[in-house]
Amino acid sequence: MKRIPVMLPMLGEEEAQAATEAIRSGWVAQGPRVAEFEKRFAAATGSEHGIALSSCTTALHLALIAVGVGPGDEVIVPSLSFIATANAARYVGATPVFADVELATGNLTVQTIDAVRTERTRAVIAVHQGGMPADVHALRAAADGWGVALIEDAACAAGSTAYGQPVGAGSLVSAWSFHPRKVITTGEGGMLTTDNAEWATRLRRLREHGMNMSAAEREASTQPVLEAYLETGYNYRMTDIQAAIGLVQLDRLAGLVAQRRAFAARYHELLADLDGAVPVRDPAYGESNFQSFWVLLTDDFGASRNDVLTELAANGVSARRGIMAAHLEPAYADAPSAPLPVTERITNDSLILPLHHALTEADQDHVVAVLRKAAGR
Ligand SMILES: *Cc1c(COP(=O)(O)O)cnc(C)c1O
Repeated sequence: MKRIPVMLPMLGEEEAQAATEAIRSGWVAQGPRVAEFEKRFAAATGSEHGIALSSCTTALHLALIAVGVGPGDEVIVPSLSFIATANAARYVGATPVFADVELATGNLTVQTIDAVRTERTRAVIAVHQGGMPADVHALRAAADGWGVALIEDAACAAGSTAYGQPVGAGSLVSAWSFHPRKVITTGEGGMLTTDNAEWATRLRRLREHGMNMSAAEREASTQPVLEAYLETGYNYRMTDIQAAIGLVQLDRLAGLVAQRRAFAARYHELLADLDGAVPVRDPAYGESNFQSFWVLLTDDFGASRNDVLTELAANGVSARRGIMAAHLEPAYADAPSAPLPVTERITNDSLILPLHHALTEADQDHVVAVLRKAAGR
């Protein structure tokens, strides 16, 4: 039986060629290709500066340092996110505080943040969940009013838009992922984007052991140079091999997003008369890249989410449970949390359907036929 994967990275000969050229150049660590990838990714997402990193997880860690979060501070995060969002707050000794999300987009809102805000709240990490843009106008205005730093976790959102601009544009600082589960990939990899030049300089330093110049700059100098280590930093660098792949992937981004949106529109048509299966949709203010296409099952559906996943797996369809909820995981068992009813509903009652560049209309028809069968229709 043919298996339909939930996600598949689009990697072609061009990526293989670009990686080969980086290797043949003899410069494989962070170097000219990383610099080029940062410049082009920042331009594509509407920011002045890009700082390439080893992952979105390390990007979130450095973003929290840049905005000045430390021990004793609280960072409001959605529990409904990949666990790295909450973990990042713990890396800087802060306490992650879980806020609920809205049902339609799976994202934080001004109201859900305000409900758990205290005088210790120093930052909010708003996730653009599964590529669904959060309401950045509302969130940024509220954060400014509260005097709280708004970090955007745009791990999944390359190519999504909000208010006619790319997600990331106009943000204080946004964190991105190039893990193969996302729309474009460098194997592993991440990026921070920001318009703040001072932060960009410091972030470049923090990713490279706190050094006041990069290894590439030192290598390029014709004079002997003595570097200095200005603060405790990390090794969070991306390699030039990864960046070479990323540059090719970036050229594919618009096409991949257009294709994903077309598949999403077709899922919407196929699911229109299947009562009890509510597919995620664009919000009024923006467009998703549909990195994750999830369907919320209501009581009308006639089968439980887990039974549906079992039926899909038995029929060659690799679907996934909905987005995880960190507060339900053992790592956060001791963390106090307000009730999160919408988060629990989405994580328990939704599933993510296959969506990738190699999907066919016949695959989509098969997926929806299995859903109908599971629902007894
Ligand atoms: C994937 C993901 C991350 C982690 O990204 P890595 O690059 O794997 O570290 C963080 N936040 C969200 C919302 C994600 O989906």
